[in-house]
Amino acid sequence: RFVTIEGGEGAGKTTVLRALRDALAADGDEVVCTREPGGTPLAELIRGLLLDPGHEPARPDTELLLMFAARAQHVQETIVPALERGAWVISDRFTDSSYAYQGGGRGIDPARIAALEAAHVGIAPAVTLLLDLGVQQGRERARGRDAFPDRIEAEQDAFFERVRSAFLARAQAEPQRIRVIDATRSADVVAGDAVRVLLAAREA
Ligand code: C5P
Ligand code: MG
Repeated sequence: RFVTIEGGEGAGKTTVLRALRDALAADGDEVVCTREPGGTPLAELIRGLLLDPGHEPARPDTELLLMFAARAQHVQETIVPALERGAWVISDRFTDSSYAYQGGGRGIDPARIAALEAAHVGIAPAVTLLLDLGVQQGRERARGRDAFPDRIEAEQDAFFERVRSAFLARAQAEPQRIRVIDATRSADVVAGDAVRVLLAAREA
């Protein structure tokens, strides 16, 4: 009952999250919606440290460890208790984002990320919806509405191309879990597709 939504900037994760929540809640199930980095008060503070440009940029290693520190808190404090009481959990980003951003984007060896995942995460999503779209289109959509435009503008297209490739490579390696959704279409169409894919996976 653990579902994650992944994708680059401007892919429409928020719209999809709401649509999935409504679809799952229609059957009367409890649905907990959460996000990374964040999802608990402490983890949200770590998110602020990572995304606030008011200090020197985090080194890739620092960024990696802060992401996993936030995730440890999020998993133990929010996700596992919800799953244990039978709720659905939908997380906007999870470990796949670390492989994409800290791995693909920042160049950290995926084996080091896998070691942290094995040591500190202990759960994995049953289904991951990867919202895929081109870097330029994502950047245009994220402009103006994203909470951290500076952070996005600071990165070159090449960075986001590596992020996208890393996401797609993970989807190829785990096609059963990671379903790629074409996010170039309108938000409503993408959300409808995401709901269909999730409900089909639930029945399977
Ligand atoms: O999901 P959202 O777009 O709100 O993510 C906030 C920011 O955190 C994004 O700019 C994303 O690139 C960044 N991020 C990251 N590494 C992660 C997760 C998110 O750099 N593992
Ligand atoms: Mg965003």
